[in-house]
Formats: sequence, structure tokens, C-alpha cells
Amino acid sequence: MKGLVIKSTGTSYGVYFEDGTIADCHVKGNFRIRGIRSTNPVAIGDYVEVTTNEDGTNWITELYDRKNYIIRRATNLSYASHILAANVDMAALIVTINHPKTSTTFIDRFLATCEAYRVPACLIFNKIDLLNEEELQELATLRQLYESLDYPTYAISALDLASSPDSLITSSPLYDIFHNRVTLLSGNSGVGKSTLLNAIFGKDIARTGAISSAHHKGMHTTTFSEMHQWDDSSWIIDTPGIKGFGLLDVEKEEISHYFRDIFHVSRDCRYSNCIHTGEPGCAVYQAVAKGEIALSRYESYLSILDDTQESKYR
Ligand code: GDP
Ligand code: ZN
Repeated sequence: MKGLVIKSTGTSYGVYFEDGTIADCHVKGNFRIRGIRSTNPVAIGDYVEVTTNEDGTNWITELYDRKNYIIRRATNLSYASHILAANVDMAALIVTINHPKTSTTFIDRFLATCEAYRVPACLIFNKIDLLNEEELQELATLRQLYESLDYPTYAISALDLASSPDSLITSSPLYDIFHNRVTLLSGNSGVGKSTLLNAIFGKDIARTGAISSAHHKGMHTTTFSEMHQWDDSSWIIDTPGIKGFGLLDVEKEEISHYFRDIFHVSRDCRYSNCIHTGEPGCAVYQAVAKGEIALSRYESYLSILDDTQESKYR
């Protein structure tokens, strides 16, 4: 029977079937997918074929083709990677201008990763109720920047939404983001992801920082990604504890392909292998100098370039 992987604990998988049932399924040790070096053969969002043995145990026997997948940067492992989710329609990053501040480098790395894996992306600016005049200006500037690159942006207060849950369905921009698709929700810790998830689902499906710190400090909330069903056609993937996204096996000449603004201008560089770090006739460099490409975007590009060069010599 064909099902959708909605939960992964590392040793078993929760698979959802069309009739609404969920079964705990296992994967044989030798189950490998050719062409992908990853620590997990099956990921959240995968469509799989499940067979039930005589003893009642369920086994994943087949993996259906993936539309796309998104990878997490594996820590300390140079080759293996971890597939965070598959078949993602939209990756939404929760961003805060302050409390805590999300860096533009973090935003741009997220967006570049989404480009590389061909996953549409959007930005949700949260905690707008906390912003002062100056921070509101910064919000406007950043929204303008990313909208100009064709990334949809939204500005919300998850706290306000939590206190008026009805507005979520009718008037909130969130409906546009989440309705009728599989959305991967991500963000640095403290940006309000749990608060937003709980507001969306109208119940405590994720533990907020406010609650978990009141319990005991060392306790971890959820360690594994999980996919939550909002309505018949809408799923939200919660990705806990993701420090950063990874661009794997990317040549340095390729990085600019994942920055829409830089890529667009780079066609006018004198040399086709230009990596835009001061080569003669570099159109990107000139565009940054003229303010046509945001300095923050160029700096993010350089930081990824730096990583790539470093890892080459490790
Ligand atoms: P997570 O780590 O991303 O899951 O963040 P939490 O949902 O645990 O939120 C961290 C803290 O920020 C909690 O104290 C929340 O109450 C608070 N918070 C979340 N969203 C908002 C918001 O929109 N406005 C304000 N003022 N506080 C918020
Ligand atoms: Zn160039």
C-alpha cells in the first residue's frame, strides 16, 4: 500500500495512508537509494510502498520518485548528509528583526539552499509587535529587498495570532502560505516557530521556549522532524534544531547560480568562470558598488564561497 512518511524517529517511520490510518514502519538495513549519499534512506515527505508481514510488522519496500528534497548540513561528516524532507512545495523561514536578530547571512544561506534544491521559498517575519520605529524601517527594507528577488514575504505576530486563532483561517496571510501544499517550516531557535505552530493548529503540538525552559533546562523538545496535517491538502513540516542548511558538492563557480540577483548580473562578467571577487570586468562587483545588488547579499555570497574554498583544503 502506498503511503506518506510523516514521522521519523531514526529507527522507524510513521506512514500515513489515504484512509487516514498511520502505521509504524521499518526499513531493511540494505535499503539504499542509488545516487544519494545520505544517513537516512527515507525522509519525511517521501511516498513509499509498505508491505505487512505475516507477523504484523510493516516494511517499507519501495521509495517513489522524489519531486525534490532538502538536505541538512551534516556535522563533522564530510560525505554523508541527512535528508531533511522530500517533496516540499514551499520552504518558509521564520525571521526576526530582533529578539533574537536573524542575520541576513542566515537568510541568504537558507534561500541559496532552496534554490539549489529547487524548492520555492518564502520569509515570515515574526514578532512585529515588538519592533520600534527603527526596526520597523529595517523590516520594510528587508521585505523590499526579498520581494524584489521574487521571494514572498509576510509580517506577523505569532503571539497575536495565538490569541485570536479564528483570524488564521479567514484573514491571515498565513492561509496563503500554508493552504493546499506541503510547507517546511524553519527558523533559528527563539524566533517563535513553536508559538506559530501551536497557533495554527489551535493546540500544543510544539513546546514553546517559554514552557520548556520552565520545566528543565537540558530537556530537548522534539528531536525529529514531523509532518503535521492542517487540512486535507495541507501539511506543515516542523524541523527542530536545524542550525544551518548545507550546499553540498557545489563548485565555487556554481554558488552564484543560487543568488538570483548575482546570477542575473553575472552574465555580463568578462570571464565566464568569474567568481566575482575582484576579477577585471566583473559586472557583479560593479553592481554592488553602484548599489544595484545589496551589499548584504554579496557578503552572504562571499561567506558561502569562503566555506567552499575552506572545505576543499580540509
Ligand atoms: P521557537 O524556539 O522558534 O520555537 O520559539 P518559541 O515559539 O518557543 O518562542 C520563543 C519566545 O518568543 C517565547 O517566549 C514566545 O512567547 C515568544 N514569541 C513568539 N512569537 C512571538 C511574537 O510574535 N511576539 C512576541 N512578542 N513574542 C513572541
Ligand atoms: Zn563577476
